[in-house]
Amino acid sequence: MFAPEFDYHKASSVAEAIQLLGANDGAKLIAGGHSLIPLLKLRLARPTALIDIGDISDLKRIIINNETVSIGALATHWDIASSHDVKHACSMLAEVAGGIGDSQVRNRGTIGGNVVHADPASDWPTVLTALNARFVIQGPGGASRTAAPEDFFLGPLTTNLADNELLTAVEVPSFAANQRSEYAKIAHPASGYAVVGGAVVVTMDGERCTAASIAVGGLVPAPVRASSVERALIGQTLNVENIMAASNQVVNDLGSNIIGDFYASATYRRAMAAVEIRHALFHITGEAHVGSRAVSVIHGVQYVPVDREAIPVSDPGSIADPVSSTESVNTENQPRKRWWEFWRRS
Ligand SMILES: Cc1cc2nc3c(=O)[nH]c(=O)nc-3n(C[C@H](O)[C@H](O)[C@H](O)COP(=O)(O)OP(=O)(O)OC[C@H]3O[C@@H](n4cnc5c(N)ncnc54)[C@H](O)[C@@H]3O)c2cc1C
Repeated sequence: MFAPEFDYHKASSVAEAIQLLGANDGAKLIAGGHSLIPLLKLRLARPTALIDIGDISDLKRIIINNETVSIGALATHWDIASSHDVKHACSMLAEVAGGIGDSQVRNRGTIGGNVVHADPASDWPTVLTALNARFVIQGPGGASRTAAPEDFFLGPLTTNLADNELLTAVEVPSFAANQRSEYAKIAHPASGYAVVGGAVVVTMDGERCTAASIAVGGLVPAPVRASSVERALIGQTLNVENIMAASNQVVNDLGSNIIGDFYASATYRRAMAAVEIRHALFHITGEAHVGSRAVSVIHGVQYVPVDREAIPVSDPGSIADPVSSTESVNTENQPRKRWWEFWRRS
């Protein structure tokens, strides 16, 4: 379907873009167009005018100092994924960006467009919630404000940005040496969008977790903090038992408004929230992706190791996969394409 007619303006500065927003009632900003153009084509959005901000170079900068990683709203997922400075300052940001969609989406799609579009299945809202990011917003007359994720994301496709405001940057606090972070998602096989995603930031004192910031997304209208899981982890050693027990607490944080669709039911998504949180935590502890045991650890099923020494080498085909030979594995609850997610993160 073709998009409805609209006027087109190209802004060369943030001030001009805001002035154009004020002068054109019903106008919308366009950055990479990867979320907005589909909405136009489906006639789900009918802006009177599009204000193209794609060439405003000030909005593409990534600035890193001792306190903050500041990512301009027009930085593409590729810019973030390929930045050595970002990898060094907060590797989770680069990893998340590298796992979004496909190369076309990463090359055109921007972090600003992603968060302002506020799709519940997007990765950035969840990750930026766990990272306690700040959204830097500019309005008419140069007025500037910041918003925390809890205030910024109001619901599906809804943020607290006013019609005449523009997101200029996303700021993430720099990591201390004893902080670790990971994001794990069940990626929809067609798009890469998160069916369920869990983002984890922990502060460690040796083996002990002294602070935790955890968010889940994909399954709820806006990302939620997993406060119950955070509380259960603080003061604990991050061993398998403690991680299993803590991650299961997430059901207390999800509320009743869980998204279900023809791809994944609400029941399934609710069950997977704990799985993705511990998946991320096991990445931190090194338990994830160490052979078949990882699948059983992440899914909380019994692990039966195969004594390979006891199997005659003349019959290698008899070596059963430890997980598939374990009766307690509930394959119904294992997300499809799991192998792909494993391959990509390894
Ligand atoms: C095939 C496909 C696969 C995808 N897979 C994933 C995935 O795996 N994970 C994921 O998280 N996302 C995924 N996405 C979403 C993608 O990340 C977003 O479409 C993209 O980042 C949006 O950025 P954009 O620059 O294209 O925004 P646009 O489409 O240009 O704009 C989106 C919205 O944001 C507004 N806007 C844009 N910039 C600003 C700004 N600076 N200030 C205020 N408002 C602004 C626009 O007015 C519009 O309402 C996928 C998209 C596609 C098409």
